[in-house]
Amino acid sequence: MTYDPNNIFARILRGEIPCKKVMENDHVLAFHDINPGAPVHVLVIPKGAYVSMADFSAKASVAEQAALMKAIGDVARQMGVSDSGYRVISNAGEDGNQEVPHLHFHVVGGRKLGRMLPRAD
Ligand code: 5GP
Repeated sequence: MTYDPNNIFARILRGEIPCKKVMENDHVLAFHDINPGAPVHVLVIPKGAYVSMADFSAKASVAEQAALMKAIGDVARQMGVSDSGYRVISNAGEDGNQEVPHLHFHVVGGRKLGRMLPRAD
């Protein structure tokens, strides 16, 4: 999957499309998912142009990588799910069913989330 500079999250980062912001710093933006799958569903994205975690870990600076990891945990605390539990998901590529080709982490919680993956059998 190649990076499309006009993907929806790139447009949110440029301010062309609004979002419901949760937190922001020099490297990271977090905002509510437009179509939440749970009472808490926040997307955490790097500001840099990376498609996936594999792309990010190959190209991003240590500062960007640290900031993204920290932001995910900060968002879980900020959203009040750090004690009750939550799940962090990053879909990548075709097999991962990634819809938006800009690296993002879903932080979901606020209800029992069930099994991580349906069984293949
Ligand atoms: P993916 O399937 O790529 O892991 O997830 C993409 C997520 O982006 C979906 O959960 C979808 O609801 C969310 N999304 C798509 N377009 C928008 C948008 O314009 N604004 C926000 N806040 N979320 C979006």
